[in-house]
Amino acid sequence: MSFDSVVGHARVVEHLRSLLTADRLPHACLLHGEEGIGKYCVARYTALARLCSAAPADACGRCHDCRLGLAGAHPDLHALDEPEAVSLRIEQIRELIALSARTPYRARGRTFLVRDAHRLTEEAQNALLKTLEEPPPGCVLLLTSGRPEGLLPTIRSRCQEFGMRPLSIPDATTVLERSGCPPERVGLLARISGGAPGKALALEAGGFLELRAALLDLVGGDAADPLETAEQVLARVKTGETGVRGRTEMLVELWISVLRDLLVLGVGAADTLVWHHDLEPRLGAVAARRTPRELETRIEAAGRALRALAVNASAELVLSDLALALA
Ligand SMILES: [Zn+2]
Repeated sequence: MSFDSVVGHARVVEHLRSLLTADRLPHACLLHGEEGIGKYCVARYTALARLCSAAPADACGRCHDCRLGLAGAHPDLHALDEPEAVSLRIEQIRELIALSARTPYRARGRTFLVRDAHRLTEEAQNALLKTLEEPPPGCVLLLTSGRPEGLLPTIRSRCQEFGMRPLSIPDATTVLERSGCPPERVGLLARISGGAPGKALALEAGGFLELRAALLDLVGGDAADPLETAEQVLARVKTGETGVRGRTEMLVELWISVLRDLLVLGVGAADTLVWHHDLEPRLGAVAARRTPRELETRIEAAGRALRALAVNASAELVLSDLALALA
């Protein structure tokens, strides 16, 4: 392993490597960008590169420090990495602060990773502020966030920010292939997720692609009881291991991608532009029955749902609106 194995994000990776090489990595970094694009992966490599005792400004993956780091057992690397936690509490930050004051064991300093830092409660963010103002020597904090606006301005102003973009479709495809995603779905998932492999893998793992037939029944007017079918679709969103908000977003994005294909077919564009190839010829039959205007109305409803979720509307309210919009 090495930074070279990171797919995409060349500009940010290059910048971080040059800072590591010059031993000028800021004591607080915030990597932000859409969910599922690989922010935490880059942050983790950066943390490992600080520990590695063999490769300068990189992580060799083989030395004692790298192996400890990879196993999550290095005494100088601490990660707040709980993808499913709704919030990160002040107690967790107090523990981090206490550790930051201790002398490092092996590396040049301790490194802390905080995944989805916007989940820190306001109390926790305020507690963290003092450490950011007067960081212990050698201590580096690497925060990642898909919603950096959820961080206090005082936190952000003390971090060096690294903005990251979604991957190109070929890069997202490479990541999905390496992740063992079923080959027949790799291209589709890379596109639906908009170059966010993390989202793509969640769609696949959550069985969301199996909902497409029901979504097509609803758009095509083929559901015997549309409200009941819509409720069945939403039941997938309401139960699962990840947060309801994230799953609602995934469903809406999936819905938009199906509507997009119907529009593509409806205006007579080439079949090669269709994402959900495996749904042909059903897609074509439904597209023939819907006008572009009818499809656009649904896309607008989906867009409203995404915007409501983005400004933190209650996921339950968004879901009840969605039940009506889908039916
Ligand atoms: Zn190493």
